[in-house]
Amino acid sequence: MSRGNIAIFVPHVGCPHKCAFCDQRTITGQVTVPHAEDVRAACRQALSEMADPTESEIAFFGGSFTAIPRGYMLELLGAAGEFIGEGRFKGVRISTRPDCIDPEVLAILKERGVTAIELGAQSMNDRVLALNERGHDVRSVYEASRLIRGGGFELGLQIMTGLYGSGRDEELETRERVLEIRPDTVRIYPVCVLDGTRLAELYRAGEYRLMSFEDMLGIAAADALAFSRAGIRILRIGLHASEGVERGMTAGYYHPALGELVRGRIVRQIIEECLAEDAESVTVFCGSGMISAASGHKRSNKAYFAERGVRLETVPDPTLGSKEIRIGREVYKCI
Ligand code: SF4
Repeated sequence: MSRGNIAIFVPHVGCPHKCAFCDQRTITGQVTVPHAEDVRAACRQALSEMADPTESEIAFFGGSFTAIPRGYMLELLGAAGEFIGEGRFKGVRISTRPDCIDPEVLAILKERGVTAIELGAQSMNDRVLALNERGHDVRSVYEASRLIRGGGFELGLQIMTGLYGSGRDEELETRERVLEIRPDTVRIYPVCVLDGTRLAELYRAGEYRLMSFEDMLGIAAADALAFSRAGIRILRIGLHASEGVERGMTAGYYHPALGELVRGRIVRQIIEECLAEDAESVTVFCGSGMISAASGHKRSNKAYFAERGVRLETVPDPTLGSKEIRIGREVYKCI
């Protein structure tokens, strides 16, 4: 999951329009936009607190970084650039929209120390993108990904589970297309329907029906498992725990420990893959970070298998890596 980066939020600056699900101010809890001095202050503070900053990045998140006024973008990158290099941070990470990437802006980012670019892909189905008023299509995700890769940047894709109009088929299509692009990293954000957004209106009007929380967990876990097996690093599952989101949410899939719930589902899916039809019990040997995930949140995996007549036992195994489990002789890497 995510390393210790310095996150600097640039809420809603640069967005060509407002997507149906988005309210960055609620998500980030921030109403003001940062300037060079704020970037410097955040970097100085982080440098004074971090034992080894050389593996960390200065990350501009929240808006569409490459669409903000050029002078402002250069101001932020210039301030960040003062803190990159020997003994300091390893580079700059940005997030932006797929239709705001072109060779010219990539050349500027390269020159200013940007090393990783994350694209808000959200869905890889054109109808879902249109319904959620994204203003770009799937082709632009492929094209931007190709340019970013070609420019030698680390490529990240961010996807949202359970958007308006997205059912099992569309979720599967998104998973398969992400696997086809094979980014270096992904973030999986199950939808939070925030007050004041178009999605909230659609939800209240009864037009947008959310799939159940259980179904969403299953889809997010299958995504995460497939991505991680393809060697794609999962940086994040679910929004950061935030009072703003809790207060400003009409509906959706917010949970302060969503990543842990999904991890529990991943273990459940792995057990199901290797469970013999007539099995009456299964023992899962767990690395140190997997013990509670294997039992499931509030022992939900134990209850789930008990209902099917299978006793699930979890046993700590110090010979395993912290994110590994073993069933029989097979070792499985989790997230
Ligand atoms: S999701 Fe991204 S592109 Fe859409 S309005 Fe929010 S910040 Fe802008």
